[in-house]
Amino acid sequence: MPEWVCGCCGRWRVSVELIRGRYRYRLVHRYPERYGGGKNVLGEVGSVDELAELLRRCTPLELADLREAA
Ligand SMILES: [Zn+2]
Repeated sequence: MPEWVCGCCGRWRVSVELIRGRYRYRLVHRYPERYGGGKNVLGEVGSVDELAELLRRCTPLELADLREAA
């Protein structure tokens, strides 16, 4: 499953899943390990346009700030 991650801190992540022929983009914010790890799912959307909107609403990022995770 491909995953996109922000270049600034690596804590904002978007996982991409193909479900019944449609893509789902799930935006997650990971807590630092020193706070016990864990993650907060901020939302799931079905298109890149909606993902851009979700990023605007919930994060300081834009699509261009994400890159494919290694
Ligand atoms: Zn970051």
